[in-house]
Amino acid sequence: MNASFRAIPSVDAILRSQAGTKLVARFGRVEAISAIRHQLEAQREAVRVGADIADADSIGLAALAELEASSVNSLRPVFNLTGTVLHTNLGRAVLAEAAIDAAAAAMRSAIALEFDVTSGKRGERDDHLRALICELTGAEDATLVNNNAAAVLLVLNTLAGHGGGAIVSRGELIEIGGAFRMPDIMARAGARLIEVGTTNRTHEKDYQSALAEDGVALILKVHTSNYRIEGFTSEVEAPALSRIAKAAGVALVNDLGSGTLVDLAQFGLRREPTVREAVAEGADIVTFSGDKLLGGPQAGIIVGRKELIAAINNNPMKRALRVDKLRLAALEATLKLYRDPDRLMEKLPTLRLLARTRDDIAAQADMLLPLARQSVGEEFTVEVVECSSQIGSGALPLDTLPSAGLGFRARSGSGRALEALAGALRALPAPVIGRISDGTLILDLRCLEDVDGFATNLGGLRNAMA
Ligand SMILES: *Cc1c(COP(=O)(O)O)cnc(C)c1O
Repeated sequence: MNASFRAIPSVDAILRSQAGTKLVARFGRVEAISAIRHQLEAQREAVRVGADIADADSIGLAALAELEASSVNSLRPVFNLTGTVLHTNLGRAVLAEAAIDAAAAAMRSAIALEFDVTSGKRGERDDHLRALICELTGAEDATLVNNNAAAVLLVLNTLAGHGGGAIVSRGELIEIGGAFRMPDIMARAGARLIEVGTTNRTHEKDYQSALAEDGVALILKVHTSNYRIEGFTSEVEAPALSRIAKAAGVALVNDLGSGTLVDLAQFGLRREPTVREAVAEGADIVTFSGDKLLGGPQAGIIVGRKELIAAINNNPMKRALRVDKLRLAALEATLKLYRDPDRLMEKLPTLRLLARTRDDIAAQADMLLPLARQSVGEEFTVEVVECSSQIGSGALPLDTLPSAGLGFRARSGSGRALEALAGALRALPAPVIGRISDGTLILDLRCLEDVDGFATNLGGLRNAMA
């Protein structure tokens, strides 16, 4: 026993081996030695239970594999084949090349973030985008924060922070994923929630009678992003709410959620009010997200009346919620694409993906079918299937887009084989994320743009499944 332990190669011997040299060149001595020690421990354990002693090079190779695996970034690219275009868990909007370039440039050098290059004096970080946002939305003024949740929090805190009443319809007291619940946000903002109406019906007179209470600061309209109430329903539309708010001398705040700058009907989707329309309808403040339908980086955009925006900017919380230079640069470049509507679809991934036709996607699926069949082997059948994509991130929850994909079914056995296949796809160098529905693993190809990369990646599946 002792004799065989002594035959295990030393750390030095492994460092001198071919694999050891490579190991040091790639990861440096410190990491190399630590991985070798780790592998030597495993080797001693293996020898204890009767395994043969590995040579120095093999142990060096194992250490190399260990370091390679741990050097892969956790935030590496994945293939989003879930069929949900704006998947919150997969990072929502994929950015336009112009936005990527702008963010990279802002990382690589100093930028005039809070510096006015004309006057040489201190500037405001939001000023870079202010005029652009006003131009695209028709608003008087604009400001930016970390995300739309922050926008809602900051607006409520500024306008109703010391127990001011905020009137909301019971049909709009939403919960969005990740513990964003409107009543909780209002409480944290220091506002006093005044619920009006019922779940399915709220009328003008409900708002009117609530306005008779003392200390009402605002009326909040919330876009019911992730659900729709149908049937015997009634809500008070923004123009009427604006009239009511004005007469009472309180602000109307409209949380649009996703907020789109373009008419979505051109993509065959239900018409959503655009930000410009929400502003024109008389809201004093409108809030929306940067990384939902807008197709930019995570951000919360607040637009509206000049004096209210000024008050919001003066709130000390603004400093804690501000946007960093990378995202400001990416957002500016994204918004500039909207100035050229003719080429917007081609340049903005979110809209480009939403606009893909079923036929286009099905043709891609036909092309990839032989490779998919070859990659999974005899255990599974693969067919081109019809499916429906979703927009995601709570935008138009009930609207789906006809799509196509690759459908994998296990020839025998239970859902276990399918789960194993889904796991193997997620274990690829660029994890492939699909969805399982009715005994079929579906890879919806709507969001597949890098076809070559996908094909190469899929080639690794046979080894993974073996
Ligand atoms: C998504 C959404 C939010 C939160 O926006 P984030 O950008 O995710 O912080 C707030 N309100 C509504 C209505 C939403 O749809």
